[in-house]
Amino acid sequence: MTDLILNNANVITMDPALPRAKRVAIRDGKIFAVARNDELKGLRHKNTKVIDCKGKTVLPGFIDAHFHLHGFAESLVTLNLEPRNNVRSISEIQDKIKQLSQKIPPGTWIRGRGYNEFYFTEKRHPTRWDLDLAAPHHPIRITHRSGRAHILNSLGLKLVHISKETSDPPEGLIDRDIRTGEPTGLLYGMGDYLAKAIPPIENEQMEHGVSLAGQELFSLGITSICDASSRNNLTRWKTFQTWKERNLLKSRITVVLGRDGFSQYEKENFSSQMEANQLRLGGVKIILHETTGRLRPSQAELNEMVLNIHQLGLQAIIHAIEEKTIEAVCHAVEFSLQRSPRVDHRHRIEHCSVCTQPLARRLASLGIMVVTQPSFIYYNGERYLRTVPDSNLKHLYPIATLINNGVKVVGSSDCPIVPVNPLIGIYSSVSRMAENGELVLPEERVSPLEALRMYTAEASKATFEETSKGSITPGKLADLVVLNGDPTKLSIDEIKGMKVEMTILNGEVVWDKMG
Ligand SMILES: [Zn+2]
Repeated sequence: MTDLILNNANVITMDPALPRAKRVAIRDGKIFAVARNDELKGLRHKNTKVIDCKGKTVLPGFIDAHFHLHGFAESLVTLNLEPRNNVRSISEIQDKIKQLSQKIPPGTWIRGRGYNEFYFTEKRHPTRWDLDLAAPHHPIRITHRSGRAHILNSLGLKLVHISKETSDPPEGLIDRDIRTGEPTGLLYGMGDYLAKAIPPIENEQMEHGVSLAGQELFSLGITSICDASSRNNLTRWKTFQTWKERNLLKSRITVVLGRDGFSQYEKENFSSQMEANQLRLGGVKIILHETTGRLRPSQAELNEMVLNIHQLGLQAIIHAIEEKTIEAVCHAVEFSLQRSPRVDHRHRIEHCSVCTQPLARRLASLGIMVVTQPSFIYYNGERYLRTVPDSNLKHLYPIATLINNGVKVVGSSDCPIVPVNPLIGIYSSVSRMAENGELVLPEERVSPLEALRMYTAEASKATFEETSKGSITPGKLADLVVLNGDPTKLSIDEIKGMKVEMTILNGEVVWDKMG
C-alpha cells in the first residue's frame, strides 16, 4: 500500500529517464512511482498520507560525502571560537574561556574550536600564556579552524607531558619561544597525539552533541553522510553502531577507516547487526602531505598502501591538497592499476584544492573521483585571495575545469571545518562568491543542475550507492528534500536565500517547516 504521496511538486529527479515530475509515491520506505501528472491517482488508499507541496521543489536527499561526525558533535557542545560567532580577537577568546571556567570545576578540560587568527586584531595565534590569563586552573585546548593546529595552556601542556625537554614527534611540531626554547602552547599536526593524551569528552555530553548533530543534518536536508575521519577504527565503528541503535542519529552513515582502523580490519571482523542502508563501511583514508618539499608518506610508501587497498577491492580515499600531492596520488593509482587492473575502482582524492587542467585530465583518465568542498570558497574566499600565492590561486578549487575534463566531482562540507549547509555549497559552486562578496575564479562557476548533482547523484557514486540513492527513481530509498525554490530557475542571489522546508528519510517526514 502507498504510504505517502507528494502532490503538486516541482520534482527534479536527477534521473535522466524522467528529469522532471509532479508527483512521487512512496511505499515501505522506497520510492514506488514518479509521475508527470495525475497517473498516481489509483495508488491512493484511505490510509495514504498526501502532502500538497504547493509547487515547491523536491530533490533527492542531500549526501555529504566528506564529513566528521565526532568533530561536529563535539563542536556543538564545546566553545565555538569561529569568526562568524564574533570571535575576532584573542581577548574575545579569553572572555569566552573565563565565562565557561566559572561554570565548571577546576581541573576539567575546557575545549574550544574554530579560532581563525586571520580575522584577529592581533593577527597572530594565541599562546599558552594568553590562555593562562583566562583560566590558569583548568587545562585548556583550543583548535585552529583547519583542525591541524591546537593551543594548550600551561596546565594542559603539563597534563599531556609536553615541556621544554620534549622533542618534536615525527609527524608534528611543537612551536617554541626563540629565546627560551619553552613551548608556546601552539602544536602543529599533533591531533592524534592529543586525542590519546586528553581524556575524551564525557559520554553523556557527546551523545547530546550527536543528537543535536542529527537534528542539524535534517534541518539542512542531509539524509546520508560519509564519515571520512582518519581516526575511525574498530572502537569508533562500535560507537557509530551504538549511536545508530539508540537512534541518536537517523541519517545514513558510511564510515571510512583510518590507517589504524584498516590494520584492525585486516585482522578482525567488523560485522554489524545494523542494516547496510543505515550503517556501512566505506573505503580507507590516507592523509598525504607535502612538508618542506617532502611527501609524507613517501611516494614508495603511498604506492604500497594504495596497492594493498586496491587489491582488497576497497576504495582509497586520499587527502591531497597541493599539486604535488595530487600528482603523487595519480602515480600511486597508476602503479596499482598496472599491477592489478580493476575497472571502476573509484579511488578518491579529498579536497583536490590546487589542480591544473593537465592534472584534471590525468585524474579523469585514471578514473579518480574528486570529493571537494565548494563552501570553502564562501567561508574562506576572502582569506584565499589574500594569502594563497598567485601560482596556486589561479587553479584553486577549479570545479568547472575538473567537470569539463571528465572528472567526477562530488560536493561535501568537511564539517566541522566549515558549516555543513549544502545549500551554501551549491550557492558557492554557482556563484564563486566569498562571504564578503569577492569573487574567486568566477570562470570556474558551474550550472545549478551540476551543483545539485554534486550533492546527490555524484555523491551517491562516491560510496558506491547509486543503485539506492542519488536520484528520485522507483526502487530507490525514499530520502527526499523539499526546497522553497527551484535553484535551476532562481537568480544567483535568490539561490543564496534558499531554505529547506521538509526532509524525508526512508519515507518518513523527519523535518517539517511547511506547516
Ligand atoms: Zn576532512
